[in-house]
This record gives sequence, structure tokens and C-alpha cells, in this order.
Amino acid sequence: MLNVHFFTFNAFSENTYIISNHKNECWVVDPGMYEQREIAEFISFIDKQGLVPKGIINTHAHLDHIFGVNALKKQYNIPFGIHSLEQPVLSRGVETAAMFGMRLTELPVADYYIPHGQTLQLGDDIVEVLLTPGHSPGSISFYHAAGNWVLSGDVLFQGSIGRTDLPGGDFDTLIAAIKTHIFALPDHTKVLSGHGPATTVGHEKKYNPFLS
Ligand SMILES: [Zn+2]
Repeated sequence: MLNVHFFTFNAFSENTYIISNHKNECWVVDPGMYEQREIAEFISFIDKQGLVPKGIINTHAHLDHIFGVNALKKQYNIPFGIHSLEQPVLSRGVETAAMFGMRLTELPVADYYIPHGQTLQLGDDIVEVLLTPGHSPGSISFYHAAGNWVLSGDVLFQGSIGRTDLPGGDFDTLIAAIKTHIFALPDHTKVLSGHGPATTVGHEKKYNPFLS
């Protein structure tokens, strides 16, 4: 079973996740560390825990989820994967950063694309890839059945959903994706979001005002 640890980084309070197995291999999901001290805090945690990063897998490529990609690629020489439909969002990174008055000098390069339905393997453990667009065109969620969690990025939040007013976003697409893919998971499935606290599928089915 995979372990989950998270940090909250950058001005957007973005959740960066470390998913690790019993051999201390790990993936980094959505590395949002921006300030030098955030990068140092992350690397120090990896060192102290004796973790070995194997790759960066992103739920999507919005600015606040990619700030730390290049720092980690340099530090650990690991590949960076996104869904192919997310490439246009990634490609706009530098200009979007400028718009927000933030620094992203070098655009991260996706080393490979992660398709819907693919099973990603970390040692003996697997997560299933679900295409859940609407917040952004190529948003994916990572479902780990053995651990009863889904890492949904900015698709679904406790009591809310991702914004749909950014390029490539679409409200109806997002609602359909949540109902088709996230709400098909067992009610006790923990939902790990890109911002804010975790929730469960059952809780959101019952109380989320956008989905009831
Ligand atoms: Zn986002």
C-alpha cells in the first residue's frame, strides 16, 4: 500500500503530495514549491525520510502545480508526466506566470504523457489514471484502490469544485467527469485535493452544493 504525505506550498496554498511505498521509492505529485526555502524544506524531508524520488506525475499543469518541477528534475533527474490534453496549458506557463507577477523563467518539459486508464506502477503498488477534465482540459486523477484514496487535484474540493473559467475549462465537463469517474468510486474513498483539506466521495455526494 502506498503512503501519502503532503506539503502546502506557494501563494496559492497548493498541496504537493509525496506518494511512497515500503521500499521508500516515491512519486511527487504536483510539485508547487516556489520559494527557495520551500524547495529546501522539501529536499530536506526527502533526505531525512530516505526517500528515492522516481518521477513527477501531475494532475494538471496550472502554474501553482508546476513551480517546483524544474528544481526537482534537476535535483533528482526524474521524468515529468502529464496527460497529453494538458500540454497547451503547460506551454502557456511562462506567460501565465508573468500575468500573475510570478517567476517561472524556464518552462518545464513533459517527458512523457499519461493516458486515461493507464496503470502506473511504483514497485508492487499501482494507481489507476482517470481523465477528469473540466477544471483544465487534461486534468487526471490518481486512484489507489488498495489505500482507498483518489488524488483529484483541483477537480473536487471539500464542499466545492475546481474553477472552470480558465482556458480550456468547462463547467458541464467538470460535473460530468466527477459524476462519471470520482463518484463511481466507493463512498469511503478519501479525496485528496489540490487545495484545502481532504474529504470523501460519500461526503461530497451528500453535501457538495455543486453536485447534489
Ligand atoms: Zn488548477
